[in-house]
Amino acid sequence: MKVVIIGAGIAGLTLALFLEKYNIEVVINERAAGTPGGGHAFLMHHDGLSILQELAKDQTSPLPGKLVEKYCLLRPDGEVLQHLELEAWHCMKRSELTAFLYGLLKTTVQEERVFSHFVYKQEKVIAAVFENGDREDGDIFIGADGGYSRVRTEVLGPVSFKSGRVKEVVGIARQADVALKYAGIFNKFQKSYRGLAFGMIPTSEQELVWFIQYDPAVAEPEDAKPETLRAFCADLLHDFPPVVHKVLQANDYEKTYLWNTRDFDLLPKFHQDNVLVIGDAAHLALPFTSAGTTNALVDAKTLAELLRADLPYEEVFETFYEQRAASVAQHLEFGRKLRDVFLDPAAYAGQAAAIPLI
Ligand SMILES: Cc1cc2nc3c(=O)[nH]c(=O)nc-3n(C[C@H](O)[C@H](O)[C@H](O)COP(=O)(O)OP(=O)(O)OC[C@H]3O[C@@H](n4cnc5c(N)ncnc54)[C@H](O)[C@@H]3O)c2cc1C
Repeated sequence: MKVVIIGAGIAGLTLALFLEKYNIEVVINERAAGTPGGGHAFLMHHDGLSILQELAKDQTSPLPGKLVEKYCLLRPDGEVLQHLELEAWHCMKRSELTAFLYGLLKTTVQEERVFSHFVYKQEKVIAAVFENGDREDGDIFIGADGGYSRVRTEVLGPVSFKSGRVKEVVGIARQADVALKYAGIFNKFQKSYRGLAFGMIPTSEQELVWFIQYDPAVAEPEDAKPETLRAFCADLLHDFPPVVHKVLQANDYEKTYLWNTRDFDLLPKFHQDNVLVIGDAAHLALPFTSAGTTNALVDAKTLAELLRADLPYEEVFETFYEQRAASVAQHLEFGRKLRDVFLDPAAYAGQAAAIPLI
């Protein structure tokens, strides 16, 4: 059996590593050239980390990431709303995670292959074709090409994206004082009467990843240019505590992004004949849950175990859906619930605050 993976992100690389381990032939194709090291950082649950530990078992390379031991939710005036000990969460830079996965891979990633379309024979896909004219033949095809998956669109049709109604500005700041002081702590400052929050987590002794979540109905920058974002963030958070401004002042706005959040309803299936989608290509939840990367790893591991059992692919793909759909559907709903509470905190006052992590 030859497995063709499209997309060398977190899900695609992890699947390729497990298939190598189980001696299943695999070819992994990626549109970018070089390790796709873009992005900032994310939180990863222990379920995801244990999968990385399993992959790295006989290796000397250390696992990426830092343990996040505490979650502290505060009001901008310093009032503490929640102070929780966490046991199962790590924070890691996306570039560190992709470099780690690339470092374990024996197969060469086929780079600069932007998926274009499939070639069919009697309704079954026999090859993937890329924009540069390359073609890869195989027995089963896995779309691990992210939230805007072309593979998904080709085999399952377009999805109806739902706006998350919240936007995020995300950046990395080199501020050693704050990074050291808050090592292992996820601090989040949140307004009591409208959708506005600032969160920060140290990723090393020198750096922090930070984000602002805001309601675009209340304020919007004119564009996403570095100087516009700098002024917008400072103005939006003018009454937040000095530590927030210390981080923002140390921030590199050339590498700061403005994200539209969005999700889509649970798909009725993740496959069509011999093509399956995994990771963000299969399910996308709002970022409040911090579930995306952990789910990508769990998808990859679950699928690899099923493929290892050497069952007919229809059975593998149906079982994969049975094992994964309920859990990702819960995260989808949880993300929407957290979004609603975030946008209208007054309406939910008095209810126990949900922890914004899966
Ligand atoms: C550059 C980048 C930066 C990110 N930064 C962050 C971040 O800072 N914080 C965060 O929480 N999440 C971030 N994410 C998303 C996060 O990685 C995913 O939500 C999560 O890890 C699920 O992983 P995935 O493998 O399903 O998708 P992804 O990690 O998005 O991987 C998809 C892969 O498919 C490739 N691809 C896409 N289209 C094609 C195509 N047509 N042909 C071939 N290859 C294709 C992409 O280049 C990418 O390597 C980022 C994703 C990317 C691609």
